[in-house]
Amino acid sequence: MKHTGGCLCGDVRFEVEGEPSMVGLCHCRYCQLRTGSAFGISIYFPTTKINVISGRFDKYAYDTSSGGKVVVDRCKTCGTSLFWELKLEKLRGLKGTAGGSYDPPTFWYKIEHEVFARSKANFCTIDVPVSYTTSFTSLPVKHEEPRLIGG
Ligand SMILES: [Zn+2]
Ligand SMILES: [Zn+2]
Repeated sequence: MKHTGGCLCGDVRFEVEGEPSMVGLCHCRYCQLRTGSAFGISIYFPTTKINVISGRFDKYAYDTSSGGKVVVDRCKTCGTSLFWELKLEKLRGLKGTAGGSYDPPTFWYKIEHEVFARSKANFCTIDVPVSYTTSFTSLPVKHEEPRLIGG
């Protein structure tokens, strides 16, 4: 099974192969800020199953207040964030791909869980099998800025 996708301007085109390792919605403030929207949709694949066909990337790296390190690959031309890698043991070897970036049928995957429901927008009434207040991948938080707690 293969699925193709790409960015807003069309420069970046990619293909994924096989079943995703994990599919989730993320309502964390980082995803809200990264997308400028209410949540992120992460379709995780082993890095080796993601094939970039064309396009160039800018990387943006940041540290989360729960101890995560994230690197986002964005199209160099239009800025669409397409892939992200979390430097966490549980996600080793995996890359998140942007759930909205796939060609039709765009939403071919099944959402398995949502994370960071604590900062979920009140108009989000999506049914998900499992909901986590924060995340099963997070480390204990020492300090968080109010803008990153949200809600
Ligand atoms: Zn682009
Ligand atoms: Zn997130």
